[in-house]
Amino acid sequence: MQETLPELAQHLKACRLCRERFAATATRHPPRPVVWFAPGARILIASQAPGMRAHNAGRPFDDPSGKRLRQWLQIDDDTFWDRSKVAIMPMAFCFPGYDAKGSDLPPPPICRATWHERLFAALGEVRLRLYIGGYAHRYHLGSKVGVTETVRGWRAHLPDALPLPHPSWRNTAWLKRNPWFEDELLPVLRTRVREALE
Ligand code: SF4
Repeated sequence: MQETLPELAQHLKACRLCRERFAATATRHPPRPVVWFAPGARILIASQAPGMRAHNAGRPFDDPSGKRLRQWLQIDDDTFWDRSKVAIMPMAFCFPGYDAKGSDLPPPPICRATWHERLFAALGEVRLRLYIGGYAHRYHLGSKVGVTETVRGWRAHLPDALPLPHPSWRNTAWLKRNPWFEDELLPVLRTRVREALE
């Protein structure tokens, strides 16, 4: 019998599969799955993995990336963090740690392999799916090209989905190099978000 979303949330919260993997990183942090979804969500944000600040706060996008993402979506904090409206399902539910350069490590593939099929089956249909960053583009959209080309092809995914770059400060230069993103994609994104939340 298929598990329900609340049942899966309980199981996911208790997941410690990456304990040894995270203990071997510079931060030596324990797993802390950031579980953020509820039945009836209208928008799915399929993202990469929580950062250190989201790990500490226990809620996703509780950082400057999240502030930029909420500006892109043009929704307030209460709406964004209302799990019955916006479900956030990243490629990994825990902060993966940092690499030697201080960048976030890749999301552990075991997370997707263990959880995604069950979670997406239980979540069911949503009105709008937003795929954020290269890991999500490759997995969910089957993209074989880079983030810029994937996002440039945004119109092909309408009306139910849109690929987005990661809203990290690291992509500020990307946003300057690609003004079409703010000029053309963001107005459509905001309209679709408004419609999905109606
Ligand atoms: S990243 Fe995923 S698989 Fe690994 S401990 Fe966290 S929830 Fe479990």
